[in-house]
Amino acid sequence: MPELKLDGVSKSFPTRREPLVVLRNISLELQSGQNLAIVGPSGSGKSTLLHLMGTLDTPTEGTITLCGENPFTLDEPQLAHFRNRRIGFVFQEHHLLPQLSALENVLIPSLAEGAPDDAMISRARTLLERVGLSERLEHRPAELSGGERQRVGIARALIHTPSLLLADEPTGNLDRTAARGITELLVQLQQQEETILVVVTHSVELANGLQRRMALDNGNLCEA
Ligand code: ADP
Ligand code: MG
Repeated sequence: MPELKLDGVSKSFPTRREPLVVLRNISLELQSGQNLAIVGPSGSGKSTLLHLMGTLDTPTEGTITLCGENPFTLDEPQLAHFRNRRIGFVFQEHHLLPQLSALENVLIPSLAEGAPDDAMISRARTLLERVGLSERLEHRPAELSGGERQRVGIARALIHTPSLLLADEPTGNLDRTAARGITELLVQLQQQEETILVVVTHSVELANGLQRRMALDNGNLCEA
């Protein structure tokens, strides 16, 4: 059974005139351990598609299943729990909390389920070591470089061992060297954790670091 399955997914947004159709009849299957880059120019619907995969928005038509479950049948608290447990997000902006240390930031997703236990704190430390920040556990975001902040963001996304890791322009704010490091790290951790990784980007260099590339063109998803 595919871990992530999109079946005939379309998305349109209502406007005062006819609806704005952003995604058309998209079908896709991915298994654990697979990674995919989705490329396309600005405005082609990359973030919209990632939001649907991440259950942050609902498809207008079609179905999405993750690990055999259709998350859109869940009520809001169940969906929040599902998302928090199954899906990790890495954004262009790191969205770290400025007053918290790197270690505390990595633990944020676990706070939804009460104070983190020793195992969770140990997982956070291990992840920060694996992203190369063992010497930066107590640094606050302002005391880290852009690439280091994004590494904290990746560790945070992996804290609950998600089935699906989603990244939206994760290297968009970085210079080329830092961008290359983040791309390699995303793929390396995705392989070690045997999760699915979907990255949306307009960067050809980032996309070339992944196993498979697809492109959004006029709302259609095609092999690239
Ligand atoms: P990309 O990430 O590829 O730059 P987006 O997915 O953000 O593109 O946006 C695709 C198109 O959908 C754009 O034309 C954008 O204006 C439109 N769009 C995105 N979100 C909404 C929304 N919530 N309501 C209306 N239109 C939207
Ligand atoms: Mg976008």
